[in-house]
Order: sequence, then C-alpha cells, then structure tokens
Amino acid sequence: MTAARAARDGVPGPGQVPAPGQVPAPEPPPAPALDAHCHLDLIEQPTGEVLAAARAAGITRVITVGVDLPSSHWSAECADTAPGVYAAVAIHPNETAAAAATAAQRDEVLAEIAKLAALPQVRAVGETGLDYYRDYAAPGVQREWFRAHIEIAKQAGKALMIHDRDAHEDVLAILAADGPPDRVIFHCFSGDAAMAERCAAAGYVMSFAGTVTFTNAPALREAAAVAPPGLILAETDAPFLTPMPHRGKPNTPAMVAHTVRCLASVKQVGVADMCELVTATGERMFGPW
Ligand SMILES: [Zn+2]
Repeated sequence: MTAARAARDGVPGPGQVPAPGQVPAPEPPPAPALDAHCHLDLIEQPTGEVLAAARAAGITRVITVGVDLPSSHWSAECADTAPGVYAAVAIHPNETAAAAATAAQRDEVLAEIAKLAALPQVRAVGETGLDYYRDYAAPGVQREWFRAHIEIAKQAGKALMIHDRDAHEDVLAILAADGPPDRVIFHCFSGDAAMAERCAAAGYVMSFAGTVTFTNAPALREAAAVAPPGLILAETDAPFLTPMPHRGKPNTPAMVAHTVRCLASVKQVGVADMCELVTATGERMFGPW
C-alpha cells in the first residue's frame, strides 16, 4: 500500500500523529499472545524497535501482511529474518485493479504470489477478499482475484486470510461455491452475531481488531460473545485501528494486549485463558511456530 493510499484510507500522515513514544505501552498480559495481522512495513518506526516493544508487552508472535507484490515480498523477507515474525502474502482487493492491466499480467502477479506462498515462513494467503466499501477495483475484478487466491491457499496448504468489507454475502457465497481451504480467517471481523454464527458453523476463524474495543461497536462485542472460544483471534491491523484507550494514536502490535483483555471480558474468561486460546488458535492457523 502506498503512502498516498494509506492517507486516503484515513491514516494520519507524519506530523498529524503524536510521536510513537507518547503512546504508553500496555501492561503485559499474564501469558504470551500474538498479533494475528499487522503491516510492519507501514508502521513509521524501526521494525526492530516495534518488535522489541511487542515482546516486552508479551506479544511474542506477529503476522505481517502484504497487500501488493512489493509488500508481500517485504513480508516474506521480514519473516525470514526477524524471530517471531511470520508472513501473509496477497494482492489486497483494493489493489487488484492497480496490480495488473491485462489477464496475462494478472496471471504473472498471481504466479509470484503462489511462489511466495510456498515459502516456509509464509503462513497465510492474504489479505484477499472483497471490499465493496471502496471502489478502487470493480466488484467483478475483486471476485476473480479472490477466487484465484483461494486456489493458491489450497495448493500451498496455507491459511486463507480474508478482508471482507461490506461484502459478507458474496465472501461466504464464493467460499461455499469454490470450497474453502482447510483454514479460513476473517481478518478484522466486521460482522454481527448472526454473521459470527454463520462463520462458526463453517469453522471459520474470526480475528478481532481494536474495533471490538470501540465504545460505538456493541454489535462487534455481541459477535465475539457468540463466536466459539476456539475460533477467535486477536489482531491490530497496525498501523490502523488503534484499540481503546488509545484510539486515534499510532498502532503497533504491542497494542493487541488491549484487544485480548477486551475479548477476555466479553468471553468472561481470565486474561491468561484468553491468551492461551488465541495462541492455540494461532498455532492451528499459522503454526507450527
Ligand atoms: Zn490489514
């Protein structure tokens, strides 16, 4: 994702956000946990410092996610060198139109994604899916790329990491029609309780971002309440979607500790138990670590 695209998506630019050090580190949870989805390449701090801060906050594993070819390559390389980091690779639905002008180009890009997806440190194909909120790519184009990514995930034997924005029905229908891979994750889950029940029935994992902590998001907490404990993950989507109490400030993987605490209270389990649940689900989706 380009800086321009990030800005259009509502990410504050440099100078508009407080310095990273001004966001207090969360209290580490009583057991290690993970950040199931972030974009380390888009965080405006040195990656080594970001990861050290995450470890200090008990977040020992991080999945960094590509949205186009350069960021997918970056993610695979980062996961190859940085301990505790694993990668996801794909062309984001909003990037599909820009990624290729012709069918031949599209096939080349997808072949490159398939090559990356086969690497051992790449643990998921994503983020891919459908975004009917933005109109950067026509829905028909997005659907073609989504189906191609489903096929890549199946062939590589990796988890499918889905971006679903205002597109629940079509995402579920395409998964049902093409047959889902063994492991499916809805990143930044945005459905209500009824959608959570449908995902649960299909065995899909729901990864909750900082949005679940927002005061104005009771429907997301209702979704988390009905999601089976074994089908829940926690993520930051950093640098986006900073959880409460730091909403609007820069987000980093360490902040997932706030989201894990929120999920523990929604699920009425201890924080240590919630950490163990997301760690086990993370290992089932992305592991072995
Ligand atoms: Zn993302």
